[in-house]
Amino acid sequence: MSTVLSVKNLRLYFTTRKGVVKAVDNISFDLKKGETLAIVGESGCGKSSLAKALIRLLPRNVHTYSGEILIDGNDVMKLSDEMFRRLIRWRKISMVFQGAQNSLNPVLKVGFQVAEPLMIHNNVSREDALAEAKKYLRLVGIHESFAERYPFELSGGMKQRAVIAMALITHPEIIILDEPTSALDVITQANIINLLKKIKNELGLSYIFITHDIAVTSELADRVAVMYAGEIVEISDADEFYYRPKHPYAEKLMASVPTLRTDKKLEFIPGAPPSLINPPQGCRFNPRCPYAFEKCLKESPPPYEVKSGNIVRCWLYHEGKR
Ligand code: SF4
Repeated sequence: MSTVLSVKNLRLYFTTRKGVVKAVDNISFDLKKGETLAIVGESGCGKSSLAKALIRLLPRNVHTYSGEILIDGNDVMKLSDEMFRRLIRWRKISMVFQGAQNSLNPVLKVGFQVAEPLMIHNNVSREDALAEAKKYLRLVGIHESFAERYPFELSGGMKQRAVIAMALITHPEIIILDEPTSALDVITQANIINLLKKIKNELGLSYIFITHDIAVTSELADRVAVMYAGEIVEISDADEFYYRPKHPYAEKLMASVPTLRTDKKLEFIPGAPPSLINPPQGCRFNPRCPYAFEKCLKESPPPYEVKSGNIVRCWLYHEGKR
């Protein structure tokens, strides 16, 4: 499979009154064509900041925004904001934002909102864009008559589908899904996941699926990246991750997920995620890690390649203790 997105040493820091928040700190990964890479981790670990860094939707208090983002081999970090808006955002990479309710403008009709990216990014006439919006509403399972309705007339699941249609309408090859099902009941969640699977196969899309809900990722993910305190600490093939997570934090995360077929005792991770302003010296997980040893307190572990495309950042692997 060819690589559609390659991220190298990406950093996104914010200036705050308390200091510089290192929300995304030296992150690297690849995304293959047709692949779903799930990015999981606790709230506040930097998942949504990573999404915003990839699509360059940045607040004003950015302190550092650096690294390489290669889409189809071209480093889009070198583009000006205007060129990025014209050539990349929504044309190459689009996003389904967290909470469909907040992503739709309550005073504009749904069809217009789905059509708007085509008018803005592809200079398509309003009439043609509205016709295309109806096509995409049908694709995501909404009758085209709903194009004439306002968001409050749609259910939560329908609003989520409309937001997905909006992300697809300009034919991007990469879609970032930021907690796309977190505000939905479990039945609607399952329907949306099935829809995402179907359109991915039909349109040959690649997904970056951001969630704190590991159970949801198991339905879609080909690989799983685990974020902790602004860093990616593990990337593993999904099949292996669910049975044999490698990083101690990932182990604990999986041990906290209930399963239907076993009566395993659920575990919790002691302590709290560290401050992203003053993260712990050495491995950032060391204050909570049951295996921490002296080196973990002093030096940050670099990525250790377990096999091609699979990495773990833990001294246990570097030192041959695992
Ligand atoms: Fe635990 Fe050390 Fe590995 Fe960090 S590097 S996860 S502290 S064993």
